[in-house]
Amino acid sequence: MRNILLFSLVVVMGLTACQNQKKDEAEASNPFFSPYTTPYNVPPFEQIKPEHYLPAMEKAMAEHKKEVEVIINNADAPSFENTIVALDDAGKMLSEVASVYFGLKSADGTEGIMKIASEVGQKLSAHSDDISLNPDLFKRVEAVYNQKDELELNGEQLMLLEDTYKGFVRSGVSLADDKKGELREINARLSELFNNFSTNVLTETNKFKLVIDNEADLAGLPASVVAGAAETATEMGLEGKWVFTTQKPSMLPFLQYADKRELREQLYKGYYMRGNNNDSLDNKEIIEEIVNLRVKKANLLGYESYADYVLEERMAKTSDKVYELLNQLWDRALPVAKKERAAMQAIIDREKGGFKLASWDWWYYAEKVRQEKYNLDENEVRPYFELNNVRDGAFAVATKLFGLQFEEITGEFPKPHADAQVFKVLEADGSHKGILYMDWHPRATKKQGAWCGAYRKQSRRGGENIPPVVTIVCNFSKPVGDLPALLSFDEASTLFHEFGHGLHQLLSDCTYNGLSGTSVPRDFVELPSQIMENWAGDPEVMKEYARHYKTGEVIPDELVAKLQNSGHFNQGFATTEYLAAALLDMNYHTQKETQELDVNQFEEDYLKSIGLIPEIISRYKSTYFMHIFASSGYTAGYYSYIWSGVLDADAFEAFKETSLYDQATAKSFRENILERGGTVDAMEMYKNFRGREPKIEALLRQRGLD
Ligand SMILES: [Zn+2]
Repeated sequence: MRNILLFSLVVVMGLTACQNQKKDEAEASNPFFSPYTTPYNVPPFEQIKPEHYLPAMEKAMAEHKKEVEVIINNADAPSFENTIVALDDAGKMLSEVASVYFGLKSADGTEGIMKIASEVGQKLSAHSDDISLNPDLFKRVEAVYNQKDELELNGEQLMLLEDTYKGFVRSGVSLADDKKGELREINARLSELFNNFSTNVLTETNKFKLVIDNEADLAGLPASVVAGAAETATEMGLEGKWVFTTQKPSMLPFLQYADKRELREQLYKGYYMRGNNNDSLDNKEIIEEIVNLRVKKANLLGYESYADYVLEERMAKTSDKVYELLNQLWDRALPVAKKERAAMQAIIDREKGGFKLASWDWWYYAEKVRQEKYNLDENEVRPYFELNNVRDGAFAVATKLFGLQFEEITGEFPKPHADAQVFKVLEADGSHKGILYMDWHPRATKKQGAWCGAYRKQSRRGGENIPPVVTIVCNFSKPVGDLPALLSFDEASTLFHEFGHGLHQLLSDCTYNGLSGTSVPRDFVELPSQIMENWAGDPEVMKEYARHYKTGEVIPDELVAKLQNSGHFNQGFATTEYLAAALLDMNYHTQKETQELDVNQFEEDYLKSIGLIPEIISRYKSTYFMHIFASSGYTAGYYSYIWSGVLDADAFEAFKETSLYDQATAKSFRENILERGGTVDAMEMYKNFRGREPKIEALLRQRGLD
């Protein structure tokens, strides 16, 4: 269930005149309280202050509740329009306020925003429960659902009806009152724990620094990395020193190039021990409680495990299906990782290192293998992947495939952060399609990673077409000194990836808010994003966008060939560290009983049991596995990336079989997948596009695991 939520605003009677007046003033200055007067109706970001959120949310929740009351008290018999569509239309203000709040919490979580996070989470969770556990509302929904065969609904309407009905059932509306109370408590507590978990990870990430004051300790590092570390030090008031952090753009180059082994160890440990230091920021007890509460919740709702509860709504449907795919890939990837390990140990031995490869050595020796075997030096590559060139390359692909145009808006325009770029997105005929923000570089208030979200989704909510407001947020290498932002090839692929999610939002052509854009099963949602990475790495496409930032020279064939060859480089490692995390997630969430959980032991025992080698650490260790413990988002769902990987590799073959920009294939991809949101069953959408179910072979080939 998506947007059906509520909370009652406590109407305090007997306020003094003075308080009323103050309240009026507060309302008058709260940008959420009146219609926006901004261009394209984007949120008036600069006017929104942290103190506006809670009052706005309370008003929005009260409004939503009133709308729900109107639905319940409608004297007419329940119908699709007066109940199901009315519910989808309801809560518009709440979606506005919540999307701004959560969008900024991730992209610019300033103190004022973070301070109210726990309160916001709890209020929304209670509001959501108030609606989804309302028996009178469910009675009407059920009444419509029971006549679904006679209503002559179209596919999209039928999907909305089923989704709404299932959402109520899965929320526990049919439970006895005492069980409902128990469920509410679980939901509220989970929301609190998610918040504690993610606050701890963010604090830990910002806390750890590797401070270097002896220049000799920088041996091996490229000049640009050294310059970046000096800038970081200056920002932290450590002028004249060099600082490396556990943020990936700072950490990975250090692990890759720094000759000083003990410093690599220090930094990597700082990273992988986050949330596991037995102090006030430790996440182990939080994880134990989350895992057990999820078992309880699943059992309450009649499922054996939390994974069963989750997967029912996914393309995979069952945990057996998920394990089947993951195990199949594990058996292919692990032997390749072991070969990679042997190749690196051979270098260590040849150099008379006299030690056994450890996890903090992997990137360093992998880089040596890369230079030896593929003769590819990342620093040779970066100048060809200047950020704005890569971005324009992604735009050009969308223009060739779908006819979209992108116009940068410069000058005054509301933006979620001063550093963000903003674009108008237009159809080939010039009609407005949406607004796209792009916010590229790390800052202390930004969550790690890269993501795409919407400040407003596309829909025809309330009968009018609402164009989306989309945002892409990344943590890419910063410009350093006179150098512009020069991306690694990985970062360039990530840009195309997030842009793919952006297209899924921008091209959405759905009626109902709850089913539009990326409102698709978790294991399907990475298809539109990951397929774009194929264009990012295609030689023909690269020649169009990968130009030297200084000379404008097109990337040389020889370098393209090297990049292509190195596509299989380190894939054993990459696939294995990912699968370890995906399997760990499944193992936590297929538990059928609550238990005393020693998190470190649980993780270690499990990963040992599947044969993970000690030189590789799970992509995420439990104590900073945000995907599964900072929200419900990717719970029993981290596998989705590779599930979607099967889909995207197989789907891209449809272009390879024709041509890179084949118009008929592009049209079919747009109409059957990108425009459809969640209005059609995921497997059906895929079959409509591909003419058959997905096959695994293209993915194995792509990764050199065949
Ligand atoms: Zn993604």
